[in-house]
Amino acid sequence: MELDNIIGQRDLIIQLKRLLELDLTGHAYAFSGPAGIGKKTLASAFIKDLLCLDRKSENCRCISCRTLNEGTNPDFYEVQSDKKSIGVDSIRELRDDAAHRPAYGNRKVYLIPDAELMTVQAQNCLLKTLEEPPEYVVIILLTTSFEALLPTIQSRTVNLRMSPYSDEEMKKIIGSVHPVPDEELGFILRFSHGIPLNAFRMIEEGKVKDLRSQVLRIFEKPGDFIQTENLRKMLLDSREELSTVFDILLSVYRDSLVYKHGMENRLINSDKKDIIKNIASSYENHILLDKIANLEKMRRNFSYNINYQLGIDALLMEIQEV
Ligand SMILES: [Zn+2]
Repeated sequence: MELDNIIGQRDLIIQLKRLLELDLTGHAYAFSGPAGIGKKTLASAFIKDLLCLDRKSENCRCISCRTLNEGTNPDFYEVQSDKKSIGVDSIRELRDDAAHRPAYGNRKVYLIPDAELMTVQAQNCLLKTLEEPPEYVVIILLTTSFEALLPTIQSRTVNLRMSPYSDEEMKKIIGSVHPVPDEELGFILRFSHGIPLNAFRMIEEGKVKDLRSQVLRIFEKPGDFIQTENLRKMLLDSREELSTVFDILLSVYRDSLVYKHGMENRLINSDKKDIIKNIASSYENHILLDKIANLEKMRRNFSYNINYQLGIDALLMEIQEV
């Protein structure tokens, strides 16, 4: 089974394999979890096993697996999105396609990536299919925010929530793609938060290092308008960096608390001790704790579709406030 090759997510894998073995597949599943956790990787393995006509063999060459690998399997349909929104027309096309019976096996699978981008109209259209699905239809949603979907969709969908990987699992995942020297691995594990894509980006682009210097510059020169404005522009242009920026900020405040408690050898940003020392001496313990709590709250708010620009302004105010 393709699912046997997935690292980690043991509970979900057991659940999915049981469904496949008992042939009890429902009509809608959502793989949910933070961006970059590997929702598509896991969903693709599940889809391959769902459509496979002979689940026993490794590297199966059945017509379904073969055409799926080539991207020509007529029983698999992926909704395309421009990463801004998924409109009702896309879902109507899905619905029309779902009216035709499968070509090879007894299932047709529809994958909707970034499902939270479906407009209300699109979701209502999908709902019609979910209310009276042809027996062979399986719809798979990928989403960073299951709760952002209409309650009527949620109630008809099995939510498979992916959780961050442990350090051990991350080491296996990273090692299977890029061998990384041990001294770098520690830093990568701390900043990637159990999310493989974060780790790969750090390795491939050195991007987190750059982001970290940019964020730390704000603390180096408090009140420097230009640094703040640069960070603001960057966050408005590349929303996908927001989560990493939160990680870096939280690591800075946590380090400052750790420093205050005399545990200098446990700093994440140990190479930036001067900055940490400075922050530690500027704030009382309870203020640092408040800042951490505020940042965590802000991070949660961003996942509930708040006004992005206002959210960024509030974030920058929070970190500049003395
Ligand atoms: Zn197969």
